Amino acid sequence: MIDSFSEIYDTHPEVSLDFKFVQEAVRNGTTTPFLLIDLDLVRIKARRFKAAMPRVQPHYAFKANPHPEIAKVLIEEGVGFEVASIAELDALLELNVPAPEIFYSNPIKSRQYLQYAAAKGVQWYVLDSVDELRKIYSVKPDASLYLRVDTQNLGSDWPLSGKFGATLTECKEIIQEAAHLKADLAGVTFHVGSQCRNVENWHVGIDNAKMVFDLMAESGLEVRLLNIGGGYPVRHVKPIPSIEKIGESVNDAIADLPSSIRIMAEPGRYMVSDSAYLISRVVGTAVRAGTKWVYLDSGVFQGLMETHEGFQYEVYTDHDGQDEIPCTVAGPTCDSMDIMMRDEMLPADLKEGDYVYIPNAGAYTTAYASNFNGFSLPQVYILNK
Ligand SMILES: *Cc1c(COP(=O)(O)O)cnc(C)c1O
Repeated sequence: MIDSFSEIYDTHPEVSLDFKFVQEAVRNGTTTPFLLIDLDLVRIKARRFKAAMPRVQPHYAFKANPHPEIAKVLIEEGVGFEVASIAELDALLELNVPAPEIFYSNPIKSRQYLQYAAAKGVQWYVLDSVDELRKIYSVKPDASLYLRVDTQNLGSDWPLSGKFGATLTECKEIIQEAAHLKADLAGVTFHVGSQCRNVENWHVGIDNAKMVFDLMAESGLEVRLLNIGGGYPVRHVKPIPSIEKIGESVNDAIADLPSSIRIMAEPGRYMVSDSAYLISRVVGTAVRAGTKWVYLDSGVFQGLMETHEGFQYEVYTDHDGQDEIPCTVAGPTCDSMDIMMRDEMLPADLKEGDYVYIPNAGAYTTAYASNFNGFSLPQVYILNK
């Protein structure tokens, strides 16, 4: 057990933004909270992803961090995109991404959004129900379609199973209806869950996709696309499999697919998370029922939303190495759900005005932030443009 554990998990440290850049920004008096992003790391991650899976074309999940400078770097690296809305689509068209390279991967789309995307030249649309198939077909009968199937999310920190994904029975109904309409249902996709630490999930997903391909071919549909979705993890507090390990499993699973099938993936978190630090300051402290509470100027509503689902970040301070006590860490708003961490070991003398640094905070942080309760969003600063 121990042996296979050390074999699966990445013993090489993942890249992470160099702390000296953070210190420099702090010395320059940058106002907190802020997110500092190093684009060189985004480049490194894009290249590493492609090297690990040469046959798999990455299409960045724009929602993870829609900052245009990140998109520009990924365009330079030959990465495509995956969107869920018209605002995301427009932002990419503005950057001259060709519409046919933008995949519409939201399984439920409003008719108005579909009409807009179709008019702009988007060709590929996902679906996971007969109703959505009929809706897309009524707007754009010549759309290329891919079917999102339900798949196992075991060992993912953010399981996505349940909201989207057709079961096998539903797949059969959808395939039957597509064949009847003569709709171009040509692909299969799945999402293993975000921050997936179980390498097996992709293999299982691909095996299921092949089964659905067979059903599609039997119904006379022309299979051309396998989209293996997102979920590739980034180092936080728990060990993760390296992208190379995931790649080995994926490459093995796709080896017998004919070259007529285009293979793509939709990494979001993997591409951007470790390119950034979120830097905050302590606005106040309190002792409540014997526990120390630390209130930061960034909370659940200013970038740390993912802590709410049990997602754990590392936390650094300028007092590291000193006596630590379990603390509750909360955000600045008056909402009782604005609590990010409990029993987080932090220096006992952490006090008002001190800095708190959270590494690997480039994904699903500023993208989730709101102005709730009048607190500002973290400013975003970009290195190595
Ligand atoms: C969010 C999302 C992704 C990206 O997921 P990550 O876990 O960030 O890699 C990919 N595909 C779809 C359809 C998504 O909704």
